[in-house]
Amino acid sequence: MTVSTTNVPTITLNDGTAIPQLGFGVFLVPPDDTQRTVERALEVGYRHLDTAQMYGNEAEVGAALEASGIRRDELYVTTKLNNGNHLADDARRTFAESLEKLRLDHVDLFLIHWPLPTRYDGDFVSTWRTMVELRETGGTTSVGVSNFEPSHLDRIIDETGIVPAVNQIEVNPYFTNEAARAADARHGIATEAWSPIARGGIAGDETIGAIAERLGRTPAQVTLRWHLQRGDIIFPKSMHRERMEENFALFDFELTDRDLAAISALDRGESGRTGPNPNTFDMIRR
Ligand code: NDP
Repeated sequence: MTVSTTNVPTITLNDGTAIPQLGFGVFLVPPDDTQRTVERALEVGYRHLDTAQMYGNEAEVGAALEASGIRRDELYVTTKLNNGNHLADDARRTFAESLEKLRLDHVDLFLIHWPLPTRYDGDFVSTWRTMVELRETGGTTSVGVSNFEPSHLDRIIDETGIVPAVNQIEVNPYFTNEAARAADARHGIATEAWSPIARGGIAGDETIGAIAERLGRTPAQVTLRWHLQRGDIIFPKSMHRERMEENFALFDFELTDRDLAAISALDRGESGRTGPNPNTFDMIRR
C-alpha cells in the first residue's frame, strides 16, 4: 500500500530550505531489521528519515533508500556526528563514511549529536565551524545541532555568527523543554522534538487518553498532533507497520487550544526527561 505523502506540511528553515514536519526515526532499530523497517516506513508514506552515526544503521538505511527507487529530491535525510568524532579531521572523515553508507552524494541535514561541554576542553565551537565547512563543500544542504541548551546556542552563534538551521532536542508532554524551545525560537532555529511520545510512555496517560477518546484517536496520535500544532518537527519511531500508519495519520483532525494547554500542563520539568541532560552527558562510544 502506498499512502499519499502530499499531506505532510513542510517547514521553511532559516537557510531557505524546506523540511517535512513529520518523518521517521530509526534510533534503536537494530541493523538487521533496519532495511525492512525503513522500506515499510517508505511504503506507508514517510519521506523524511532521521538516523545518526551513533545508531549504527546508516548502511541499512542507505540500502532501503536505494531499493525503494524513490527519487532523491523526494527524500529528506538527516544524520548526526557521533560523540567520538568532534575533532575536525574525524568529523570530515566520518561524514564521508556516512555518505558512503547512506549511498548518497549529500544529506539534507547534518547535526552535532551532543554538545559534550565536558569533553574536548568544552570546545564545541570548532566542531560547529567544521559542520559549516561541510555545508560549504556541498555534502550537506543544511547544518544544525542536537541537544544544545540555550547557553550552548548563544556561544556558537556569538563566536561564529552562524545560526544552526535546527536544534533537535528532547520534547514530550512530561518534558516540554520550554526554555530550549524559546531559545530556538529567539534565534530563528526550528525545533525538532525527539522521543515525541516519550518512547511510548504517554500510552496510559489519563489526560491524553480522555482527549483521544473524545476525538476517536489514539494517545500517540493526540501527542504527535500536539507537537505539530506547536510547530515542532517530529519523527516517531516504530518497528510495527500498524503503528507507522497510526503515527502518519495526523492531518485530518485538530486539537483545540484547551487540549493543547491541558497536554502542556503535564510538564514535570527535569524529572520528565527520558534521556540524559545535555550539560552532563559525556558518553563516547564508537
Ligand atoms: P519515540 O517517542 O518515537 O517512541 C518510540 C517507542 O514508542 C518505541 O518503543 C515504539 O515501539 C513505541 N511506539 C511507536 N509508535 C507507537 C504508538 N503509536 N503507540 C504506542 N507505542 C508506540 O522515541 P524515539 O526515542 O525513537 O524518538 C524518535 C526519534 O528521535 C528516534 O528514532 C531518533 O531518530 C530521534 N532521537 C534523537 C535523539 C538525539 O539525541 N538527537 C535521542 C533520541 C531519539 P515499537 O517500535 O515496538 O512500535
